Amino acid sequence: MLVVMKADATAREVSDIIGVIENLGFRAHPMPGATRTAIGITGNQGAVDPSHFENMPGVAEAIRVTKPYKLITLDLSPDRTIVRVGDATIGGDELALIAGPCAIESHAQAFAVAAAVSRSGARFFRGGAFKPRTSPYAFQGLGIEGLKILAEVREVYGLKIVTEALDEQGIDEVERYADMIQIGARNMHNFSLLRRAGRSHLPVLLKRGWAATLDEWLLAAEYIMVEGNYQVVLCERGVRTFAQHTRNTLDLAAVPAVRQISHLPVVIDPSHGTGKNFMVTPLARAGVAVGADGLLVEVHNRPEHALSDGAQSLTLEQYEQMVEDVIMIHKVMVPMVCLS
Ligand code: PEP
Ligand code: MN
Repeated sequence: MLVVMKADATAREVSDIIGVIENLGFRAHPMPGATRTAIGITGNQGAVDPSHFENMPGVAEAIRVTKPYKLITLDLSPDRTIVRVGDATIGGDELALIAGPCAIESHAQAFAVAAAVSRSGARFFRGGAFKPRTSPYAFQGLGIEGLKILAEVREVYGLKIVTEALDEQGIDEVERYADMIQIGARNMHNFSLLRRAGRSHLPVLLKRGWAATLDEWLLAAEYIMVEGNYQVVLCERGVRTFAQHTRNTLDLAAVPAVRQISHLPVVIDPSHGTGKNFMVTPLARAGVAVGADGLLVEVHNRPEHALSDGAQSLTLEQYEQMVEDVIMIHKVMVPMVCLS
């Protein structure tokens, strides 16, 4: 059930509706918008009787939700979500650039990359301290030491820190040192972790699982939102197919597909999406052209020595050039995406 308030509904009328929802034992999710507030209802097992709300003051209509999701949808919030991280945003008119190494390897490496990407316009710095590696013998990340380096990067360059949490305890640590929690592709189906991220005060970057359908990915976002955290960014990072010329197949069609259903911002990761250095910039350009709200790109000062994902990491110079390219494309895109 979705209760849509009239444009001139008062704050009191909205809170009265919330009171009725809570008295029924359900959870209310008010989404204030430019033209009206809508209130999503979760926690109900069967259908909610619309007559609870229909005649209350300020209510325009009570709509039964027939889709599998309740909170990610444009029905609830026709205004697109802008995720705010301090003074940086993802989902507004500005193209969000999230750049940095796959893993934080050392103070020197992190600072060399951070200096370069902040000069080239990134507002967000990424880097894993806890790495989900296929092999238990591969570099697993520096852990807390890596988070401390990230916090120093934030201090020195003013970049917002995006870093992955592998488990619930990892979220506690990320909350201490960073600005945004990354939930990786491998954990997109980890429902207790998603719920924990939903109880965080930090925004969440939710990567698509490599075999996840659009619905599964959006329902993973729903898991976060149902706990009350509405600051979610979706990240398309490629899915596994029969293709052998790339590490994953970057599903660019996911961008317009998501935008047709959801108010959440969506960013493209052309690094994991291709696995190959020479493909990253072309796919980054394509991601922006298809309407993505931002890019997540791996950058390394010495990719040939990287402890993880060196083959897909841009050099500092390549990153600078990529940014020039995508900013040009984004300028052309802004009026078109706003119309769509
Ligand atoms: C990463 O961003 O370094 C990462 C591990 O990504 P994914 O979860 O998409 O594989
Ligand atoms: Mn990586």
